[in-house]
Amino acid sequence: MKIGGFQKNSLIDFPKTIACIVFTQGCNFFCPYCHNPDLVAGSTYGTCNLKDEAGIFEFLEKRKQFLEGVVITGGEPTLQADLIPFLRKIKGMGYKLKLDSNGSRPEVLERIFQEPLIDFISMDIKTRLIDYPLVVPEKFDVSNIRDSIRLIMEKALAYEFRTTCVRPFISVEILNDIGCMVKGAKSYILQKCSRNVTVLDPGFIKKDLNFFSDKEMLEFKNIIGKYVVTSMVR
Ligand code: SF4
Repeated sequence: MKIGGFQKNSLIDFPKTIACIVFTQGCNFFCPYCHNPDLVAGSTYGTCNLKDEAGIFEFLEKRKQFLEGVVITGGEPTLQADLIPFLRKIKGMGYKLKLDSNGSRPEVLERIFQEPLIDFISMDIKTRLIDYPLVVPEKFDVSNIRDSIRLIMEKALAYEFRTTCVRPFISVEILNDIGCMVKGAKSYILQKCSRNVTVLDPGFIKKDLNFFSDKEMLEFKNIIGKYVVTSMVR
């Protein structure tokens, strides 16, 4: 596993679970508002130096009484060749697992869902399918996104879809298109984009026009709420 960062504690990243977070290195998307640019671009990130697998497993062994779960996030975790053995090992220690993914590799999700490995999955939906070329390389097959959504809705124990709401990726029309794609989903989270962090494209957060007001976010919540069971602005 290429691990770019590790956070020892979090009360907010895994619903109802006290967890630590493993940040995997590398991503196949380039969202301009990405809050983990170092994980995408190639150096390191994190709140401590625990970035090797052996050190992380040692930490997990010692914290069994205090921690309930582990969040695997990125970057994009499904790019890691040894992700599944890594998940198995953590699960074998008795921890709950949450996986964050951009949904680009449904074939990996399919293999993960063949075993009782993950307890919760969050998938980012960046925009409607025809606009994915704004954040993905030319050769990317956008049907992968639809396949991942279908797999998650059919097979995940618990899940949420998430969208960071910024222009030009989101609008009323685009959210309605996304809504049709996730119709019947259990949970959809709309996130405001923080402007007080380092992002992949620093020019992006300087443009006021890229951001939505609280009122607009509420309107988006109501729109996506027509298609899913629960919608929330976070
Ligand atoms: S936001 Fe997620 S999918 Fe987009 S570049 Fe950053 S890590 Fe990759």
